[in-house]
Amino acid sequence: MATQPSPEKSQQSTGKHRVVVIGSGFGGLFGTKALRRTDVEVTMVAKTTHHLFQPLLYQVATGILSQGEIAPPTREVLSGQDNAKVLLGEVTAVDLDAHTVTSQVLGRSTVTPYDSLIVAAGAGQSYFGNDHFAEFAPGMKSIDDALELRGRIFGAFEMAELGASRGENVDHLLTFVVVGAGPTGVEMAGQIAELAHRTLKKDFRAINTRHARVVLVDAAPQVLPPFGKKLGEKTKVELEKLGVDVVLGAMVTDVDERGIEMKFKDGRVERIDSVTKIWAAGVAANPIGRTLSEQTGAPLDRAGRIAVNPDLTLPGHPDVFVVGDMIALDNLPGVAQVAIQGAKYAAKEIDNRLKSKPSQGPFHYFDKGSMAIISRFRAVALIGNLRVTGVLAWLMWLALHLIYITGFKNRVTALLHWFVSFIGRGRSERTTTEQQIFARSALGRLKRGAADLVSDPGAYDAARAMLETTRRAELEERAEEEARLTDAGERGVPVEQRVG
Ligand SMILES: Cc1cc2nc3c(=O)[nH]c(=O)nc-3n(C[C@H](O)[C@H](O)[C@H](O)COP(=O)(O)OP(=O)(O)OC[C@H]3O[C@@H](n4cnc5c(N)ncnc54)[C@H](O)[C@@H]3O)c2cc1C
Repeated sequence: MATQPSPEKSQQSTGKHRVVVIGSGFGGLFGTKALRRTDVEVTMVAKTTHHLFQPLLYQVATGILSQGEIAPPTREVLSGQDNAKVLLGEVTAVDLDAHTVTSQVLGRSTVTPYDSLIVAAGAGQSYFGNDHFAEFAPGMKSIDDALELRGRIFGAFEMAELGASRGENVDHLLTFVVVGAGPTGVEMAGQIAELAHRTLKKDFRAINTRHARVVLVDAAPQVLPPFGKKLGEKTKVELEKLGVDVVLGAMVTDVDERGIEMKFKDGRVERIDSVTKIWAAGVAANPIGRTLSEQTGAPLDRAGRIAVNPDLTLPGHPDVFVVGDMIALDNLPGVAQVAIQGAKYAAKEIDNRLKSKPSQGPFHYFDKGSMAIISRFRAVALIGNLRVTGVLAWLMWLALHLIYITGFKNRVTALLHWFVSFIGRGRSERTTTEQQIFARSALGRLKRGAADLVSDPGAYDAARAMLETTRRAELEERAEEEARLTDAGERGVPVEQRVG
């Protein structure tokens, strides 16, 4: 039976103030970077080895960008910051009394002590209590999601070509449903429409990809509600010009392998047959929020976001800051700038305390505006009271995303790929594999996920030691017998004639 060794303590401390940062997303990375000149040792604990620029996930899913362009290795990004180290692991426990964070990777457990903690673990997809939908309608939160969707989207065209060659009806394969008409849903629907109607139009023989149907479904009465009615209406018109069916006021009540079922306000129920569904509808804050809530009494809202003090700390724990998508404060939206500004604020607060400087006072969010791309050369932007649409908004989107993509080489290659996709009609990243589509389901069938595919901690060494001992005994015994045969002159003598 495998033995579970006690958790490893994270590397010895230098005696400096220890800041632990949970997460390598916008909050985690910008918080760590903001501490670069502070006399502290920072340990970033994150469950992936990369920083992820989520706003461009849909471009990975639709073959415009590669995953490396939007997800640089955190270790490389922080390589020049001497006071920061990166630790791979999924945080499974935070002990606010013991001041420790416990993380796991492949069954290996690590405990990291902290003096100050910044929690920036973000949010996941919410299926509003219907988690079984996830198998048939992946969300868009991670590189795995984007690559799986890429495989499913391009795979659907391939299966349609095969089916059509045999004379079968392939409408269900050429129908793509995006659930959720927020920025991610709009961007995804727009890109699939461009892919089908423009990029792939010459690549198939048995099917006409221009006949593919893209449907954007939402229970709300308009698209992009946070952008206001006017921009919402404008976006709907633009999507329809691209050939997207926009179905509003429709609540998705079931999702299965072959399609979705939706119910309208008047009780009407409709089904859309579609193999490829994408869920861009809801978010649920990271479950770490629940453990923090249980230990502090800070309430969680319906999306699982934790109520924090105006200075982003937890009640009764001034050493613990929570930032970004995990917090419920002043109706702040779940956007990158809230995470970035919150993390920078927390880092400054830690710096001030160490230098015995006064606090900055409550955290104030500066809204720099929001934008969503509809297709090439078409976007909408809301900056204060200013509403921008069309090419100008698209150019603003382009400039802003180039600024925020981490890493110079990523900026250069992203620009190159945008040129290929938006000026030409190509997509540089169309490669997909069977594993990208099915690996998640296969891993899901294992009891402990990927941990079932490797030996338990220490088990490999123990098995090797055991093997070595038995093998040594075997070799010694054989050598002894060989010597005895020679000394007794028994070589060449039939076994039955041997004496003794
Ligand atoms: C598809 C999509 C498009 C978006 N588009 C836009 C946009 O156009 N503009 C905009 O402003 N915002 C956009 N957002 C929202 C924006 O990305 C988030 O608001 C922002 O990422 C929040 O930052 P965060 O640091 O709170 O969380 P994240 O950036 O999500 O980072 C969370 C980090 O925590 C890690 N983590 C999670 N759980 C654990 C754990 N248990 N242990 C260790 N590490 C853990 C994750 O791996 C990740 O590194 C978009 C989001 C998505 C999903």
